[in-house]
Amino acid sequence: VKSEGKNGYRFYQPQLGEDIKKRISSENALTEALEKKQFILFYQPQVNTATRELCGMEALVRWQHPDKGLIPPSEFIPLAEATGRIVALGTQVIEQACEQLALWRKQGIRLVPISVNVSAQQFNQNVVVHTIAACLERYDVAPELLEIEITESSMLAKHAEIESQLAELRKMRVKLAIDDFGTGYSSLSQLLRLQMDVLKIDQSFIAQLGNGSPGLVFVKSIISLAHSLNMTVIAEGVENDEQLRLLQDLSCDQIQGYLISRPVPAQEITAMLQKH
Ligand code: C2E
Ligand code: CA
Ligand code: CA
Ligand code: CA
Repeated sequence: VKSEGKNGYRFYQPQLGEDIKKRISSENALTEALEKKQFILFYQPQVNTATRELCGMEALVRWQHPDKGLIPPSEFIPLAEATGRIVALGTQVIEQACEQLALWRKQGIRLVPISVNVSAQQFNQNVVVHTIAACLERYDVAPELLEIEITESSMLAKHAEIESQLAELRKMRVKLAIDDFGTGYSSLSQLLRLQMDVLKIDQSFIAQLGNGSPGLVFVKSIISLAHSLNMTVIAEGVENDEQLRLLQDLSCDQIQGYLISRPVPAQEITAMLQKH
């Protein structure tokens, strides 16, 4: 919304019209991209902090645009969220992740779990539980090989609705991860109740890690809290050796970040999995 006058009149009407047109055209582009299956998954390795062994990977969506090339999620996820298209996009992401696992299995490659990002909107109308159950069945994928990441902040917003569905997923033995932890102020009681398998420390805290920084104390307490709740801890956004060393000292279980690898196409993961 453009600036409003003191009587509530909006100025710059022509510009506002342009904004609406632009938005409608990007919304249409998003719908078309979903129909044409232009969204593809890149995968970022998650490795054991001590041994650097590959133990999982996060699926990160990209838009393979016919003219503009590879478009990062920051440029289309917000609109997908605002228009509700995120639900259809999320379904395609789950489907592609399961398809990839089935492909690797067919190729006789060692399987490690794939985690997919799930938006709070996918929990509306119970759609995500059904989608996951259907995809696991269709591709004959073991539920333990699929992990869903849900952000701490979205879980806090509609926790009652989401929690019952998380319980269903847990019963199905799908793995559950709490994403961007540290940015949403969840309480200890919420953490206890949610019984998540994995806690991912938000990359902003890892970026602040360094000798003597207050961030270190924070990360240290998150890790010991998570461990006391039997959760696996993954540090996100690990970019340098000093961060790695500190996380080793703090007994962080796994790391993910540019130090190990950027998100890469599936074939590059295939090569990594074949090495082991
Ligand atoms: P996220 O879930 O927190 O994913 C981690 C982001 O950090 C990814 O950005 C990843 O490429 C980036 N990253 C990884 N290692 C490093 C590092 O060492 N340093 C720095 N600076 N960044 C690192 P990406 O792929 O651009 O994704 C951005 C966000 O878009 C994701 O944040 C997630 O919130 C959203 N997103 C991506 N794929 C999906 C999806 O399939 N569904 C939904 N709902 N959201 C998605
Ligand atoms: Ca994982
Ligand atoms: Ca994530
Ligand atoms: Ca994250």
